Amino acid sequence: MPMSPGRRPFGLSLDPLEGESLAGFALRLAHRLHISPHELARLTGLTEQDRLGRARASLSTRLTPAEIKNFAATTRLDPREVRAMTLEPLASRYPPAARSVANVRAGNVYSMHADRWLFPTTARYCPRCLAGDGSDIQHAHGGPWQILWRLPVVFACPRHEVFLEHLCPRCQKPVNFSNRAQLFPRPAASGVHPAHCRTSTVRDTKTGRHDDPCGASLAHDPLHHHRPGPGLLALQRKILRLLRPGGPKQPAQQYFTELILLAGLVMICWPRVQAVGTTRQLAEAVAQHLAIHEGTDSPLYRSTGAPVDAFVCAGLLQVTDRLLAADDLREALAALAPEENRNRSGIPPTRHL
Ligand SMILES: [Zn+2]
Ligand SMILES: [Zn+2]
Repeated sequence: MPMSPGRRPFGLSLDPLEGESLAGFALRLAHRLHISPHELARLTGLTEQDRLGRARASLSTRLTPAEIKNFAATTRLDPREVRAMTLEPLASRYPPAARSVANVRAGNVYSMHADRWLFPTTARYCPRCLAGDGSDIQHAHGGPWQILWRLPVVFACPRHEVFLEHLCPRCQKPVNFSNRAQLFPRPAASGVHPAHCRTSTVRDTKTGRHDDPCGASLAHDPLHHHRPGPGLLALQRKILRLLRPGGPKQPAQQYFTELILLAGLVMICWPRVQAVGTTRQLAEAVAQHLAIHEGTDSPLYRSTGAPVDAFVCAGLLQVTDRLLAADDLREALAALAPEENRNRSGIPPTRHL
């Protein structure tokens, strides 16, 4: 496959950081080259497949072999490094990623938004990771926006022992909120630091135009009042181990399938399960989340979808994981079944009271 005519490698590029997403890498490189993310996407062939010439959000899920080749050639990367910045390597371990990759491969670039256990773009971040590791290059262009931050099951950063954040401390909007259909919010805005908020601030009611991107640094002190304790960090490490390439695929697939299915049941049955294995603060946060989002139909907040708030999601997953680990799953689940069903099954209801 020859490189498309007129496409030349950049004189200057960047080494990808560990776990970095395509959007994150493109933001850092655009910043280094003093061009907008849109211009970078255009020069690397990421806008070619879109009728309107945009870099679509689906690019962070899967790239075609031609897109990988063109992006790798212009940015001087190995094609394997480019593929590693997408969700594709996670598809064999995390079923929602597999569904999303299959949708994009089939050309359904918008139905990938339908999965409740996969964020359409990076929805959470670790402020400490974005601050960088102190090296000159990360000081200049920020640390890695990680591909794993699209997965709701990733709620904490084990390196920095903090919950992931989803809100900007200044504009209070979720990160990447402006436009979930595109790879980057405000793609034409250049000069915004990669670790700063790109969300549009208020829309000018007279002209209809958006103000500049918010621009607040996301490398701030954690906004969550709590830090993850040893139990939650252990759960997060277990989840990250299952997602790591190279390990067995089948146990990971099975664990996440069951975890997601059961988490939905737990949300429906809350508060009957809240006493099981989590702290009071976490249980209260979950209850509050379910109460607030009852009846709303925003896909990010639907009540059986993954909570975007990492603290709430952690509480939910902790309860769910403890249920999954029960010696007798049937017994553990019986407490969640409606009482009339329990009567029908012949199990004396008193046992569950
Ligand atoms: Zn971190
Ligand atoms: Zn902001």
